[in-house]
Amino acid sequence: MAVADHDGATVDGADAGSGARIADLIASGPTLSVEFFPPKTDEGAEQLDRTVDELDPVGLSFVSVTYGAGGSTRDRTRDLVVRLNSERSYPAMAHLTCVGSTRSELSALLDDYDANGVHDILALAGDPPADGSPAGGDFTYALELVELVRARGPQFSVGVAAHPELHPRSTDRSSDRDHLAEKLRAADFGVTQFFFDPDDYTAMVGELAQRGCTTPVLPGVMPLSNPAGVERMAAMSGATFPAALAARVESAGDDERHRVVVDATVELCRALLDSGAPGIHLYCLNRSPVVLDVAEALDLR
Ligand code: FAD
Repeated sequence: MAVADHDGATVDGADAGSGARIADLIASGPTLSVEFFPPKTDEGAEQLDRTVDELDPVGLSFVSVTYGAGGSTRDRTRDLVVRLNSERSYPAMAHLTCVGSTRSELSALLDDYDANGVHDILALAGDPPADGSPAGGDFTYALELVELVRARGPQFSVGVAAHPELHPRSTDRSSDRDHLAEKLRAADFGVTQFFFDPDDYTAMVGELAQRGCTTPVLPGVMPLSNPAGVERMAAMSGATFPAALAARVESAGDDERHRVVVDATVELCRALLDSGAPGIHLYCLNRSPVVLDVAEALDLR
């Protein structure tokens, strides 16, 4: 069924998803999860439905669904999360941003998620308008959204974003880590921006521990299937682009390319798991082939 056609019918909260909070799954990990984005077209929706079916044998721990900049995909995100949560055996987590929104708008959306059995929220600030105009709304930082979700009760599990290579708007390393530690202490877990050097992750975890923060942080891993696209995203997010790996992917023949991407992804995931990461969150861009091969190699089921 195309996401755009979803009728938004409510499902019994008690029957939705696996019934497990993502925070609890991570605590008994390691977990393997993927990020989806809500498709804009019927064709994209069919592609995502195929991917979801193809990933079934992997036994994913959970999935997450992004929220378009400034809430531009609010209804599509909501409908996809509710549908996945009701149809699949794993929970689906809704990304939610707060900058530019009012408290009453977000409270209404959280009430709707609660009524529909969606209790896993990735609480994000979101980005202020690119033209520098005032964002408006009632929020400045993600921590304020964490507090809004928390106030609704223990049925919610709350994740937050973490940036191993620092948030691009941060003024200095120490204050960025201080703010991250404070936010993680209020949340159940973190999920990172993508990065390609495992040392960036272990350094961040160490700096958090120095601040007394041991909240689990899932590394977000981006397979380098589309180097040009990842280079653009890296420029926006402040992540270092792996030029040497990109050159290897670009110069590989069609048959070899997939293997180069999978091997590099598996190598990074293994280093992260060996260093104590509580699981792996893969940025799959609504496609299954790399996830299938990485999951088989990691055998996290
Ligand atoms: P915050 O935690 O609020 O941090 C933002 C900046 O403010 C940081 O530099 C931080 O150091 C600083 N800061 C925090 N608290 C304070 C304080 N008290 N005083 C001064 N400075 C402070 N965006 C979307 O629009 N939709 C999505 O679905 C989405 N999904 C994401 C998923 C992940 C895993 C990640 C890592 C990012 C995602 N983003 C998404 C991007 C995110 O919205 C942006 O990075 C945004 O700019 C910051 O969000 P945050 O939640 O990290 O903000």
